[in-house]
Amino acid sequence: MPDTKQSKSTNHALLGPLPTELRRHLLHTLGQNEKDISPNYSYQAAAIAVRDRISQPWLDTREKFAETDGRRVRYLSLEFLLGRSLNNAVQNLELDGSIREALNQYSLELEEVVEQEHDAGLGNGGLGRLAACFLDSCANLRLPVAGYGIRYEFGMFHQHIENGHQVEAPDHWLRNGNAWEIERAEDTKKVKLYGHTERYRDEDGVTRSRWVGSHDLLAVPYDMPIPGYRNNTVNTLRLWKAAATDVFDLKEFNAGSYPEAVAAQNNAEQISMVLYPNDASENGKELRLKQQYFLVSASLQDVLQEWVSKHGSDFTDFAEKNCFQLNDTHPACAVPELMRLLVDEHHLDWDDAWSITSNCMAYTNHTLLPEALERWSVALFSSLLPRLLEIIYEINERFLSQVAKQYPGDNDLLKRISLIEEGDQPHVQMAYLSIVGSFSVNGVAALHTELLKDGLFADFYRIWPDKFNNKTNGVTQRRWLSHCNPGLRDLLNDTIGTEWEANLEGISELAKHADDAAFRKRWLAVKQHNKERLADYVFKNTGVKFDPSALFDVQVKRIHEYKRQLLNVLHVVHLYDRILRGETKGMVPRCVLIGGKAAPGYHLAKLIVKLINNVGSVINNDPKANELLKLVFFPNYRVSAMEVICPGTELSEQISTAGKEASGTGNMKFMMNGALTIGTLDGANIEIREKAGEENFFLFGLDAAEVVELKMDYDPNAIISADAEIHRVMEMIEGGTFNKDEPGIFNVLTNGLRNPQDQWLTIADLRSYIDAQREVNDAYQDVEKWNRMSILNTATSGWFSSDRTIGQYADEIWKVKPLPKS
Ligand SMILES: *Cc1c(COP(=O)(O)O)cnc(C)c1O
Repeated sequence: MPDTKQSKSTNHALLGPLPTELRRHLLHTLGQNEKDISPNYSYQAAAIAVRDRISQPWLDTREKFAETDGRRVRYLSLEFLLGRSLNNAVQNLELDGSIREALNQYSLELEEVVEQEHDAGLGNGGLGRLAACFLDSCANLRLPVAGYGIRYEFGMFHQHIENGHQVEAPDHWLRNGNAWEIERAEDTKKVKLYGHTERYRDEDGVTRSRWVGSHDLLAVPYDMPIPGYRNNTVNTLRLWKAAATDVFDLKEFNAGSYPEAVAAQNNAEQISMVLYPNDASENGKELRLKQQYFLVSASLQDVLQEWVSKHGSDFTDFAEKNCFQLNDTHPACAVPELMRLLVDEHHLDWDDAWSITSNCMAYTNHTLLPEALERWSVALFSSLLPRLLEIIYEINERFLSQVAKQYPGDNDLLKRISLIEEGDQPHVQMAYLSIVGSFSVNGVAALHTELLKDGLFADFYRIWPDKFNNKTNGVTQRRWLSHCNPGLRDLLNDTIGTEWEANLEGISELAKHADDAAFRKRWLAVKQHNKERLADYVFKNTGVKFDPSALFDVQVKRIHEYKRQLLNVLHVVHLYDRILRGETKGMVPRCVLIGGKAAPGYHLAKLIVKLINNVGSVINNDPKANELLKLVFFPNYRVSAMEVICPGTELSEQISTAGKEASGTGNMKFMMNGALTIGTLDGANIEIREKAGEENFFLFGLDAAEVVELKMDYDPNAIISADAEIHRVMEMIEGGTFNKDEPGIFNVLTNGLRNPQDQWLTIADLRSYIDAQREVNDAYQDVEKWNRMSILNTATSGWFSSDRTIGQYADEIWKVKPLPKS
């Protein structure tokens, strides 16, 4: 293979050709016998060899940031759902040919070797995956953006299914080491917890506050490279690991409690031990607040230390040169923590510190669900972060008195917007703290941002209309099209050239080919191949055989009531009922796949998993249904599973209750890969439908305004009685068809569907959903028509590249420019 740009720039860095490097690492780094290489060691050696190719451009990028000394951004997030790194690095560095040649020495295929890598599952779902797509796009666009997060020892739990139930197992993703990280012990920081505050006079006689008597721990950074797409840029994700300070407790030590003193180590390490597995809900645990503060304090100290090393104690230009993007309220402690560092440690006065802080923080909201809004009890705050609580009180007082001047006499308003929610147990409202402390507040899809302005944050919108803006989410077309769907990549490259990989706008050129019969034939062949790959994957993971000529209908995402996996199951039961009654005229064979993790404490979500499994096993074992219908629950849904699932999907289920899904990003991955969407007018579905054209989207259900309206007078039982097909579906489930040996287990679910208080209005949308699924069925019978619609979905997916999203963050919020080219 010819050397690439990248390998040329690394020639001087003492690296041989990849085949030699791979051998060297197998023999000398890993001590393996070449005659008998295990798949895991072949992966390790390949990863190290590729990582070596990244080192020089990584160092060069860092140096260029330092030289340029321009404005920089830090993306603060408790989650980065990276998935695997090897294939991404190989493709982005253009090493595909040479790594294949290297592996060929041992008769290994790249495809089998990349399978050995454990997903970095440092996130729950959409929010964490968004952070990962954003880092990829920042590197692609050569933007000076670094990610900051936590190096959880245990990522998102492993899910398996026993007797239809979800069972969780720990995900020790670091067990075999992590070839992609570099420990930077020299940048270790100290983080305080507990203790109390006191006032004192400094040398100049100024009264100041300090945080004393704290328990301190260390934050040790591990850097992961984020390689840009064939552009010699490698950005950094810095993940913090917690460790004990090596100062022993001398009292215990001398009292003969040496083991107890050493054991304290363990306590500190708890903080970065495990990712909290709650998606779209909060649990209020003390350890979680410790994690949030730990990330924020270590990251801000890191940035300030670098600042001081260059600019001394002059912070005049700090806000001009630095911006922090808060990924939801999880890192909201950044607001009071930056104030503390500037006022207490660097001795700025309050007003200067506030002007800096509120001009460099920007906040992204990710949800409208009340149960997901973070509120921490004042009692917990005061014990864990006493100095931060004082600062929050002071921010609140100044904020409320400013608003009181602007809206004299409106005491209700002051009560509504106070950062402290009063009551028996007062709480700090982290979303309000984030809004007050930031110069920008954004939602993640057009509808979501409008709902924030009209509802949840209406008071703040009235006070600061200019802070609010929309940034519709996106996904990286490198991972989610080019790398995971090489068949489609090659077809696109043959048809419209390769520019779309770096800039997806150009994919609109595809539309011209939608009516070209020869092109459509190739399109169909690619999809067919991906369906076969998916069918094999499903069989391997569930033992169920999907027929690749059937319609592949997929819903994968976290299991949550608002996402309405139940609605999907009700439709599958309806199809099964039609089959049992022989009403199958014109019915297209369909394979339905549902996958996703339920939070371990979310009992209803776990019961939904059980229902899906039970319905699946009845249908899949019924010879009467077999030709026409299959339903599987796909276990342990994760990034690397989605990389096989989305290329093989034909119908993408995006069926949340309107007004509840902030954006969705799974919907975008499917669209790029040519799936058609059946969906509600929710989140980014609305924009997907606008771009694709309404004739290329299967719309159903109430819109957000109708949802609000219907909730005032909702009678699901009347709907069920009046609709014979829906009535039969409910009878089947309630009559025990799917739980013969476990009577009554699904009553909680069916009672919920029949409850007039059901927040998710599942029964209200069922008729419209069944009808839209009939349209899907009919459209699928016309292969040419379906293919055309599929092509047009991919052709109009350009807007949903995270490169577009990040371009807007860079221009409109961050005001940063790409690094100058060398
Ligand atoms: C994209 C993605 C999500 C987000 O899916 P939504 O359908 O937007 O909720 C969650 N988990 C994984 C593994 C993903 O890749």
